[in-house]
Amino acid sequence: MEVNAVSAHILVIEDEPKLAQFIELELKYEGYQVTVAGDGFTGMTAARESKADLILLDWMLPGISGLELCRRLRATGDKVPVILLTAKDDVSDRVAGLDAGADDYVVKPFSVEELLARIRARLRPNQEPNRDLLQFEDLSLNRSTREIYRGDRLIELTAKEFDLLEYLISHPRQVLSRDRILETVWGYDFMGDSNIIEVYVRYLRLKLEANNETRLIQTVRGVGYVLRN
Ligand code: CA
Repeated sequence: MEVNAVSAHILVIEDEPKLAQFIELELKYEGYQVTVAGDGFTGMTAARESKADLILLDWMLPGISGLELCRRLRATGDKVPVILLTAKDDVSDRVAGLDAGADDYVVKPFSVEELLARIRARLRPNQEPNRDLLQFEDLSLNRSTREIYRGDRLIELTAKEFDLLEYLISHPRQVLSRDRILETVWGYDFMGDSNIIEVYVRYLRLKLEANNETRLIQTVRGVGYVLRN
């Protein structure tokens, strides 16, 4: 994934595994980030925690129904666009869905093209390119909120660790010399031990690989470091 190629995150709440998987594959193929929840309760939790840009919500779900889930979400003030997936197709059901706060609905069975068009229509207004969000592989760094994620895992960094990672992720696949890193992250007037870089890279690796994730910060012997898989 290229830096700044930020894709919208779509939460799919659908209890039919085959349909959920089909939607997930199609959306990922289109470049969206996708999370899938298979019932109402899991979906509610995911909706609150995932900060999705859009929710595809099945109407008939075990646990909490899609309609109820949508109502509860709106009751908390959450304005995330919601598209209901429903096999129901009579007028009163449509009204009920929109009353519950859904933005749109797609009637099953639907074509992929129709679903994608509805999604694009709902995403467009709030999908301004986010220059604050830098991504590399499953790592993301948000300059404005200073949040770091490895996949779904939020990672706590100190200010200096953040600065170092921001520098690396701003230059993916470029070998950065130790001198450049020192100058950029610590400043020209840094008078301390230049082993400081090794120390901080070690801290970063421990945090970024806490769940045995693949190494992204690679050592280039005799030169410096590079962010690559
Ligand atoms: Ca269902």
